[in-house]
Amino acid sequence: MKRNYSISSAPSDARYRISVKREPQGVASNWLHDHVQPGARLKVAAPAGEFFLPDMLERPVVLLSGGVGQTPLMSMMKAIAAGHPAVPAHFVHGTQSGATHAMGAEARALAAASGGRIKATNFHEQPHPEDRQGQGYDVAGRITLDWLRENTPLAGADYFLCGPRAFLRIFVGGLMQLGVPAPHIHYEFFGPADELLAA
Ligand SMILES: Cc1cc2nc3c(=O)[nH]c(=O)nc-3n(C[C@H](O)[C@H](O)[C@H](O)COP(=O)(O)OP(=O)(O)OC[C@H]3O[C@@H](n4cnc5c(N)ncnc54)[C@H](O)[C@@H]3O)c2cc1C
Repeated sequence: MKRNYSISSAPSDARYRISVKREPQGVASNWLHDHVQPGARLKVAAPAGEFFLPDMLERPVVLLSGGVGQTPLMSMMKAIAAGHPAVPAHFVHGTQSGATHAMGAEARALAAASGGRIKATNFHEQPHPEDRQGQGYDVAGRITLDWLRENTPLAGADYFLCGPRAFLRIFVGGLMQLGVPAPHIHYEFFGPADELLAA
């Protein structure tokens, strides 16, 4: 069985980290959660792909993710925090609730350590009673284009997006309609490209 997993650690880290969401009835993700122990040896291919942070950043960066799509963006956030001290960034993440929210504390800690240069805004579509606004999440509901228009630089930023098909359909086209030039919009879909382009 062969699956793709994005690296969620910083490029400068001495080891690679992947972050795997357990999918209901998913073969590989359940196997990784239930059977793989520290020290296990897996056969993996070298990291590859087109979706990465360029060495030179020319403008502020918005990292926009839905669900498990946050994994490569977490790696980018860490790279900006450590290696681009003059670049403002905004990590915007949407998930269902605290029950599905991974790496929230990590994102908040990176933002807090940046002295305001890096922001993290977490959306919970349907927060649970135990989810605390201002701690576990910042905004209740889904990320919207209106929110992005009011809270991010649009044409003044580079946008990196990763998420499910419906998420990318809304935001890739929507950001262009809000005036973000197409070359400033970079995205990756966690599935086959033809699904993304299908009607
Ligand atoms: C470029 C790329 C990067 C990715 N990065 C990550 C990452 O960083 N982290 C991450 O968690 N994932 C990532 N993925 C997704 C990952 O590759 C797998 O697709 C995911 O883990 C599901 O694999 P699986 O074997 O568990 O599910 P599969 O067994 O392949 O099943 C696929 C889907 O079908 C559903 N399904 C399976 N059987 C049934 C059934 N009988 N009835 C109904 N539904 C069913 C499962 O719930 C699952 O959602 C990435 C994908 C791509 C393409």
